[in-house]
Amino acid sequence: MKKAFKFALNTIPRPILIRLSYVFKFFAPVFLKGNNVECPVCEKSFKKFLPYGYNDNQRDNVLCPYDLTLERHRLMWVYLKTKSNFFTED
Ligand SMILES: [Zn+2]
Repeated sequence: MKKAFKFALNTIPRPILIRLSYVFKFFAPVFLKGNNVECPVCEKSFKKFLPYGYNDNQRDNVLCPYDLTLERHRLMWVYLKTKSNFFTED
């Protein structure tokens, strides 16, 4: 699966990848069903996160298969939820 992702990310133009992601996000959680990792944004658990990155910089366990968030998005989400009043202040 990692090689397929790497091939897709490096060959398919980004605008098409973004359109394909809307369909992909409905099927990926089924294939990655499990409890090893949890996304704080969508609050769903998976066997693992998807790899992400271009060329030789692809990293494992990065992309949430449901909402397509990266680790930096999840970190910001946790910070805003726990260390700020972003979601509670008017
Ligand atoms: Zn998620």
